[in-house]
Amino acid sequence: MRTTRSALEADWLGACRRAVKGLERMLAESPSTEQRALETGTRGSGGDDTLVIDERAEALVLAELDALHKEGHRFVAISEECGEIDYGDAAVRVVIDPIDGSLNAKRGLPHHALSLAVADGGTMADVEFAFVYDFGPGEEWCARRGEGAWLDGVRLDPALGERRDRDGRLEVLGIEAADPRWVAASIDSLVDCAFRLRALGTIATSLCQVAAARFDGMVTLRDSRGVDAAAGQLIVREAGGVVSFPRCEQALGAPLDANPSSPVVAARSLQTLRRLEGVPT
Ligand SMILES: [Mg+2]
Repeated sequence: MRTTRSALEADWLGACRRAVKGLERMLAESPSTEQRALETGTRGSGGDDTLVIDERAEALVLAELDALHKEGHRFVAISEECGEIDYGDAAVRVVIDPIDGSLNAKRGLPHHALSLAVADGGTMADVEFAFVYDFGPGEEWCARRGEGAWLDGVRLDPALGERRDRDGRLEVLGIEAADPRWVAASIDSLVDCAFRLRALGTIATSLCQVAAARFDGMVTLRDSRGVDAAAGQLIVREAGGVVSFPRCEQALGAPLDANPSSPVVAARSLQTLRRLEGVPT
């Protein structure tokens, strides 16, 4: 049996890219909302009603993990729908949201993503490898701890700063968990912070927009789950941004599981991060 180290060094990027090909085929076979709205009748470990496309997407990703396991790699997988699967070593955690933004996928809206993170511990700070593939624009985001972050193979510039309008408000702020009631509860603070809001409908993709400085910041208006944020948060940090989970004791202390634990906040500067942490959630 190989060591923990070798599980971290498995070809995760190759496995993710093969999973993307499978997911693209699966989605192409069910192009209409009528087909994509079919539910399994069960709820995922994260508590959402599971769509057939979520379940099929998860099976495709798990098939890739099965293959890595057969090659001798040992780890534990945590996925949105099925929860935890033991592949032999709890020291390496593979955190998966097979489709982040299922509602967008169902309705034919562009942003929905495969999100996968590999960590050598139980929190956001421990993520070593991150992968997000956004099926709308067809963009591949990835990061390795201490090495950087890439969009479609091009290194993201960590020096990119934020843009503000004449009044000092952030030019574009991403919001997630955009239930109108939660928007209403946060609205005064958002008015102060932002010139324009964008709600893409996937936390993983929204974090990636901060990584590329397309968004000047993002905030979820409710607690996020480890499966949603694990990959995107490393991509932001390796691209020169800052991230925190304000409800946790440590900024990056949110657990890598499928339970809601804290909002996630991301920005291009510490000053903006502090400001966004103050948005009521
Ligand atoms: Mg999902």
